[in-house]
Amino acid sequence: MARIELRELAHAYKPNPASPADYALRPMDMEWKDGGAYALLGPSGCGKTTLLNIISGLVKPSHGRVLFDGKDVTDLPPESRNIAQVFQFPVIYDTMTVFDNLAFPLRNRGWKGAEINKRVHQVAEMLELTPDLKHRASGLSADAKQKISLGRGLARPDVAAVLFDEPLTVIDPHLKWLLRRKLKEIHHELKLSLIYVTHDQVEALTFADQVVVMTQGEVVQAGSAQQLFEEPAHTFVGYFIGSPGMNLLPCRIDGAAADLGGVSLPLSPAAQAALAGARGDVKLGIRPEFVECGFVPQPGAVPAVVQSVRDLGTHTLAEFRLGGLSIAAKLRHLEASAGEQAWLTLPPERSLYYVDDKRVA
Ligand code: ADP
Ligand code: MG
Repeated sequence: MARIELRELAHAYKPNPASPADYALRPMDMEWKDGGAYALLGPSGCGKTTLLNIISGLVKPSHGRVLFDGKDVTDLPPESRNIAQVFQFPVIYDTMTVFDNLAFPLRNRGWKGAEINKRVHQVAEMLELTPDLKHRASGLSADAKQKISLGRGLARPDVAAVLFDEPLTVIDPHLKWLLRRKLKEIHHELKLSLIYVTHDQVEALTFADQVVVMTQGEVVQAGSAQQLFEEPAHTFVGYFIGSPGMNLLPCRIDGAAADLGGVSLPLSPAAQAALAGARGDVKLGIRPEFVECGFVPQPGAVPAVVQSVRDLGTHTLAEFRLGGLSIAAKLRHLEASAGEQAWLTLPPERSLYYVDDKRVA
């Protein structure tokens, strides 16, 4: 296992890139700790596979260096990097048995009978493949085949890292849930460094200790589930994580207050200090979970009009009109109908401010 560093890494597939839009990956510096469980989360096309392939050596970066334990591997081919990679679709030998598929990476490394037997059984047991070990892979379901691919990725204990590229895409939803948890357990048991790529926030947040969020070729934040939820460093993280995402309300700063579509909200001293002299596009970000609603005027509350109320069983999702803006609140319970006057409290400690999409307070 290894610590993986990316130094001033960037990648353009086209020669002579000119504008930022020509880059699949914009310049980044990152470190992946030895033994960590990481998720790389972002929408389709943001550069996740490119980044993974640069780490494994399938793609050579147009700029910057890749280091494993301080050693520069940028110019090494994949086979010299000691990485296991699992792809979206099964990559297995159909004519071989499940056992031989799992044993393949070990035999390649010169492992012998008894050692192979022990490790294959350990991996098969974790993935619930033991009953299939003697069967030919060709006769198995798509789910089972992908489990074999996962097993092949996890078979070698001495790899620098195991890279998963949306490996649960072909798996049915129920099994997906089980496998996600399984992979987390396996990480604890086998102590491999894992990087797991996905566009699914639930998958990323349940699997990983550290989630790296990407958009348009850029890493916008790396953090725990709680950090991404409570302190998004970028409006994209606020919007992409959560269901629904963070309210991002354009505002104009006027000394000690923020003007939200015509409604004035007092700023905390900290927010005032952070926003003093801010130039650019300012937004107030607040998660729907933190918006409070009442029906009588309260000190510090702002007037809003109920737009819609949906009872979702475990909670109520309400939309309000606040000045010219729309704001969502996730409430335990709300008896109200559209058109009613309400008073919303946006707690200052839960109100984050963004200038040109980056958090300032
Ligand atoms: P993701 O895995 O997040 O969906 P990718 O890394 O596959 O994203 O793609 C990032 C960007 O690079 C996309 O705009 C994609 O079209 C482009 N891209 C990916 N692979 C190639 C390639 N081999 N040649 C040219 N452009 C590519
Ligand atoms: Mg991809």
